[in-house]
Amino acid sequence: MSEHCLFCKIARGEIPSRKVYEDDEVFAFHDINPVAPVHFMLIPKRHLVSLLEADESHAALLGRMLTLAPKLAREQGLENGFRTVINSGRGGGQEVFHLHIHIIGGGNIPPMVKRS
Ligand code: 5GP
Ligand code: ZN
Repeated sequence: MSEHCLFCKIARGEIPSRKVYEDDEVFAFHDINPVAPVHFMLIPKRHLVSLLEADESHAALLGRMLTLAPKLAREQGLENGFRTVINSGRGGGQEVFHLHIHIIGGGNIPPMVKRS
């Protein structure tokens, strides 16, 4: 837990969010600035900055999060598929420094990398 972390505050319910899912270990909520019709994030409740800080001790948690993602995506109507994005560190474009998996879908999802 990190006192001043935005996503810790959201997981604790101190800052309101549109909740998608919650259990003992994880919390999922809609992105405030969605890039597609469905865009929510899955986070661990325990503060973890990013994948750069993850080690073997986080393997079970990260596995749970990845296997939960398709279940939550289906519940949000993304039966045909979805994109997962994990920005890690400043070099990865991360803006909120509490690990989160973006789950994005609906509408037209373009290829990640445009090739000429
Ligand atoms: P990052 O760039 O760190 O991978 O993604 C951070 C995401 O958090 C962005 O997509 C941004 O829209 C979202 N975000 C930032 N502040 C808030 C907030 O207060 N509430 C919610 N629901 N999403 C937020
Ligand atoms: Zn946090």
